[in-house]
Amino acid sequence: MAEVRERIARAARDADRKPDEVALVCVSKTYGADAIEPVIEAGERVFGENRVQEAMEKWPALRARHPDLELHLIGPLQSNKAHEAVSFFDVIETVDREKIARALAAEIRKTGRHPRLYVQVNTGAEPQKAGVLPEEADAFIKACREIYGLEIAGLMGIPPVGQQASPHFALLNQIAKRNGVGALSMGMSGDFELAIQLGATHVRVGSAIFGPR
Ligand SMILES: *Cc1c(COP(=O)(O)O)cnc(C)c1O
Repeated sequence: MAEVRERIARAARDADRKPDEVALVCVSKTYGADAIEPVIEAGERVFGENRVQEAMEKWPALRARHPDLELHLIGPLQSNKAHEAVSFFDVIETVDREKIARALAAEIRKTGRHPRLYVQVNTGAEPQKAGVLPEEADAFIKACREIYGLEIAGLMGIPPVGQQASPHFALLNQIAKRNGVGALSMGMSGDFELAIQLGATHVRVGSAIFGPR
């Protein structure tokens, strides 16, 4: 934990940024409460999970003990899980199609809960990966805002495995800038320093904290 924190701070300073401009999302997927509790004890408050069901099984007890936690959904969202996602998560990082935007808007109206929403962009246009295509991102963000009345607070991206990550981080940053989107969730255990250099406001780090999955 201390080492990851130190690496984030160093990468931020090297990029002439303040370490507190970069939020660490500790990705706890597949790990149980016994592994998560020490990370909370060490002072971390922001966690990421990729499955709604798994998160809803393990987080209520942790949250009862630590009410100030912030939970991010970083995995694909099905529209039939929109109710659970809006009720449970503080940030939903994987908004990527109109069906989801519509379902989230309906749940937000119904519940009065307002999780922060990020649009996931498939910067590498990988067929198996979730996310809106880069060339469709502007129109999708506009539709989220104007048709569904959603506030889009950030963008999230996962560069293709085995490629240089920097062009993907730079592209995500450009899309965010031209759409007036503030948060940039990019960078994982293998490349978070590079992501910070290219403007990440949130890095999602799993295995470097919890160990291999
Ligand atoms: C698992 C996961 C991470 C964390 O990956 P590590 O390489 O373990 O740091 C980050 N983002 C998403 C979307 C993930 O699914």
